[in-house]
Amino acid sequence: TFLDPSGQAKTMTGACVDITEFVRVREALKLADRQKDDFLATLAHELRNPLAPLRTGLHLLQSFHSAAAGEAAQVLGIMQRQLDHMVHLVDDLLDIARIRQGKILLRQEPVSLQAMLDQAMEGVQTLLDAQALQVVRPSVDPALRVLGDPTRLVQVVGNLLNNAAKYTPRGGTVTLRAGAASDAGMLCIEVQDTGIGIPPDMLEHVFDRFAQVPQHVDRAQGGLGIGLSVVKGLVEMHGGRVTAESAGSGTGSLFRIWLPRVEAPVPAAVAPPAPA
Ligand code: ADP
Repeated sequence: TFLDPSGQAKTMTGACVDITEFVRVREALKLADRQKDDFLATLAHELRNPLAPLRTGLHLLQSFHSAAAGEAAQVLGIMQRQLDHMVHLVDDLLDIARIRQGKILLRQEPVSLQAMLDQAMEGVQTLLDAQALQVVRPSVDPALRVLGDPTRLVQVVGNLLNNAAKYTPRGGTVTLRAGAASDAGMLCIEVQDTGIGIPPDMLEHVFDRFAQVPQHVDRAQGGLGIGLSVVKGLVEMHGGRVTAESAGSGTGSLFRIWLPRVEAPVPAAVAPPAPA
C-alpha cells in the first residue's frame, strides 16, 4: 500500500518470478543449437571431401569403358547416378549449415530469367525422362532478368523441379511458369506437378529443416528433408519468398517463388515539341 500524489492510499499486488533459471536454460539451448550446427558443418565437409576424387575417377573409368558398352559401362552408370545423388545430399547439408552460420556470400547480378530456367531444366532432364513426365515450359519475356546469384538461382529452381519429378508418378505432368509478378519489382516462378500432393497440415512445415511428410517417407527416392529449407534460405537471402500449395494427397503441388527483378531502364523522356 502506498500514497499517491494526491495523498490517497493505493494498494498494488503482484508476483515476483525468478527468471534466472529460464535464462540459463535458454542460453544452454542456444549453445547446444550452435554446437549442432558446427557438427553438421564438419560432418558435411568430411563427407564431401572424398566425393570429388571419387567422381573424377569414375568419369575417367567411364571414358575408358564407354566404347566397350556392356556390363562395365552399365555398372559405371549406376555408380555415377548413386554418387551424384550422394553429392547432391551432402551439398544440401553443407548449404544448410552455411546458411545457418551466415557463411554464404551471394553474387548480385542481372540474370536472364529464360537462361536460368533453361539451365535448371537441363539439370533434371534425365530424371524427368526416366519418370516419363510430360513437361510444360513457359515462354518467357526475354527482357526479364532476376537480380541475384546465377548458380544459386539455378539451384533453387532445380531443387523444386527435382522434387516435382520425385513426387509425381510416371506419366504425370510438371508445369513451369514464370513472369513479372503483381508485386512491384518482383518476378514470380511457379513449379506445379500432378503428383502425390501435400496434406494441408504439412504445407507450412515442408520448409523446416529435416521435415518430411510422414506418408512420403517410405518412398523409393530417399532424401533428408533439407532441400526445401535450402530453397527457402536462399530465396530469402535474395530478398524473395516461397510458398507451397496443395489441395491434399493425390492432387499435386504448386510451389511459387518471388524474386527481385532488374527493372528495365526507363526510356528517356521525349522532349515536347517546341511551341510554334
Ligand atoms: P526431401 O525431398 O529430400 O525429403 P525436401 O526438403 O525437398 O526434402 O522436401 C520436404 C518434404 O516435402 C518431402 O520429404 C516431401 O514429403 C514434401 N514434398 C516436397 N516437394 C513435394 C512435391 N512436389 N510433392 C509432394 N510432396 C513434396
